[in-house]
Amino acid sequence: MLLAGKAAVISGAASARGIGRATARLFAEHGARVAILDLDEQGAMQAAAELGERHLGIGCNVTNVAHCRKAAAQAIAALGQVDILINNAGISQPVKTMEIAPEDWARIVDVNMSGVLYLSQAFIPHMRERRRGSIACMSSVSAQRGGGIFGGPHYSAAKAGVLGLAKAMARELGPDNIRVNSVTPGLIQTDITGGKLTDEMRADIIKGIPLGRLGEAVDVARIYLFLASDLSSYVTGAVIDVNGGMLI
Ligand code: NAD
Repeated sequence: MLLAGKAAVISGAASARGIGRATARLFAEHGARVAILDLDEQGAMQAAAELGERHLGIGCNVTNVAHCRKAAAQAIAALGQVDILINNAGISQPVKTMEIAPEDWARIVDVNMSGVLYLSQAFIPHMRERRRGSIACMSSVSAQRGGGIFGGPHYSAAKAGVLGLAKAMARELGPDNIRVNSVTPGLIQTDITGGKLTDEMRADIIKGIPLGRLGEAVDVARIYLFLASDLSSYVTGAVIDVNGGMLI
C-alpha cells in the first residue's frame, strides 16, 4: 500500500486499455482515492465507478483552462486534498512533416503539451498551500528519437516540450516541496497503438527492443506509482524511460 491516505488526479484515464486507466487501477489498489479526468465524461465516470465508491470521474478537456480549474475545484472538494497529479492525457497523429496542417499542429501541441501546463496550473496553488505534491507528466520516446511509429513530428515536438516544461516546473516548485517528473514510454499496447500493428510490423519493432516485447499499460503505471509515492521522495526533474531498452 504505497499510496495509503493519498488522493490522486489522473488525466486521460477513461480509455479501457489505456495507460491512465491502468494507473487508476494500480493507485486504487495501493490505497489512493482517485479522480479520473477525461474528455470522455461518461467513460471517466464509468471507470471511477469500476474502482469503487471512493473514486470519481470528471469530464474535462485539458486544453480548456476553465475546464481544468473547474475540475480541480471539484476534485479537491470531493477528495478533500490532492497529493498527486498525473498529466497523462494525449493524442497522436501519424503524419509526415509536409502533411501537418496548422490546425493539426495546434491540436497536437495543445492536448499533449499545453494541457500539461493548464492542468498543473489548476492544482499548483492547492499543492503550494499544503507544501506537498507530486506531479508526473507524460512524454514519449518520440521526443527522444525524433519520431515514433504512430506520432508525427508535431507529436515529437509537443512531447519534447513536456520534458522542458516539467524540468522548469521542478526547479521552480522544489522549494514548495512539489516534485515534478516525466516518463518517456516506448511502444505500449493501448488504443493509440492497438489494432494498427500488423504481425510483420510488430516483429520488426520487437527486433529493436532488447527485452523482446512491446510494453503493457501497467509497465508505465508502475513508474507513475513510483513517482507518485514517497519511494521517490528525492527525485524531481527526472525523466524515466519505460521502453524495454529501445534507446540503448
Ligand atoms: P489512450 O488513447 O488509450 O488514452 C488517452 C486518453 O486521453 C483517452 O482516454 C482520451 O479520451 C483522453 N484524452 C484525449 N484528449 C483529451 C483531452 N483534450 N482532455 C482530456 N482527456 C483527453 O492512449 P494511451 O496510449 O493510454 O496514451 C496515454 C498517454 O501516453 C498519451 O499522452 C500518449 O501520448 C502517451 N504515450 C503513449 C504511448 C503508447 O505507445 N501507447 C507511448 C508513449 C506515450
